[in-house]
Amino acid sequence: MRMYDLIAKKRDGGELTKEEIEWFVGGCVSGEVPDYQISAFLMAIYLRGMTARETADLTLSMAASGETVDLSTVSGVTVDKHSTGGVGDKTTLAAVPMAAVLGVSVAKMSGRGLGHTGGTIDKLESIPGMNTNLSRERFLEIVRKVGCCIAGQSGNLVPADKKLYALRDVTATVSSVPLIASSVMSKKLASGCGRILLDVKAGSGAFMKTPEEAAGLARTMVEIGKRAGRGTEALVTAMDRPLGRAVGNWLEVREACETLKGVGPEDLTALSVELAAEMLFLAEGGDLRSCRAKAERSLADGSAFRKFREMAAAQGGDVSVLDDPSRLGSEEASYTVTAPESGYVFSMDTERCGEVSVLLGAGREKLGDRVDPFAGFVLSKKTGDRVEKGEPLAVLYSKSAEKCRDVAPIFVGAVSIRPRKPVLSPLILARITADGESWTQCPEIPEKGRKPS
Ligand code: URA
Repeated sequence: MRMYDLIAKKRDGGELTKEEIEWFVGGCVSGEVPDYQISAFLMAIYLRGMTARETADLTLSMAASGETVDLSTVSGVTVDKHSTGGVGDKTTLAAVPMAAVLGVSVAKMSGRGLGHTGGTIDKLESIPGMNTNLSRERFLEIVRKVGCCIAGQSGNLVPADKKLYALRDVTATVSSVPLIASSVMSKKLASGCGRILLDVKAGSGAFMKTPEEAAGLARTMVEIGKRAGRGTEALVTAMDRPLGRAVGNWLEVREACETLKGVGPEDLTALSVELAAEMLFLAEGGDLRSCRAKAERSLADGSAFRKFREMAAAQGGDVSVLDDPSRLGSEEASYTVTAPESGYVFSMDTERCGEVSVLLGAGREKLGDRVDPFAGFVLSKKTGDRVEKGEPLAVLYSKSAEKCRDVAPIFVGAVSIRPRKPVLSPLILARITADGESWTQCPEIPEKGRKPS
């Protein structure tokens, strides 16, 4: 086989065979296919797309390109949960212990922040002592003992994705449905879980800007899961506004703890409950309403918070700061951003909000940067809230007052205030399974709340 021929075939809209795809993935990992040919091939895929069969073959080949995790020593059905990335999305921290309390085993490998989006590992590492760099043996031991563990990706898992992702990042080929779907799903399949729950974000703070695009990605990933024999479901959820009020690593852990204690923000609580309920449903079937009631009970009776505490302790974390976050003092400067006019918070450019948090120090501007665990912001007003001129919109936190002041105008520019109250799109836009899909109806905004015809 010649890489030249595969590039030409895809460039001209041809359908690649399984053997051709496997040969390409093998060549990427061995180094036999040079970067310039991989890049040209990625661009051909970006422009021409892939059929469902090609995408599934690419995913399976990538998943098999390195080590895989064997979860056979973990009892019960293992369920993984994955978000495609957003701003203020700390649902993993809340939904994973909730699901574990309900008997679902969760062996979760998470990532660090990517671009304007936060990463669960950066968040967890803001807890003093917390170790997310666990050996495979220790990771599995914690899952068996506690029921859940969240660690960074260890070992040589999916080397093909490392290669392809790095090249996509610099060749303007990230936002392609078959490439995103194969990247996400290859890692999920290699991490050994029995079932997969996807939270596909849609809106200004997500990679997919519209519900329709997000649903297309969700359908593709659900189909891959089906072809791989792993039950997979997806929720398409709103990311046209930050989730909860806190954005930034420790700020988000603190808010996740409040949620687990039953006093978190309404939107974060509702989505975390839904995700935990879906994880239970994927593991055991039954009826979704009773799964939801069980998830809610785990918040009300304190068991979900105790489970998070137990998991953090097993990973070396100082749980006293989870019990009482005020024990973790920080020397951050703070700055209150106020509303330049009266009206309603009509919309937020959520990607810009994520960038604000990166600029404050919560994310990385370049590879290898250290994140500031305490940097970020807490919203005083959310989309839809009334605000008077001069009232606080948010409090920014950073190492220096100067940085806060420099970044404040960018935050103000991301918030649109209008005289009219906006109609919010539903938090959960759609549920997509291998058997079909249901969309949350929203009569006020038909274009947002309904399945595209
Ligand atoms: N997350 C991934 O893991 N891969 C992508 O391509 C995009 C988001």
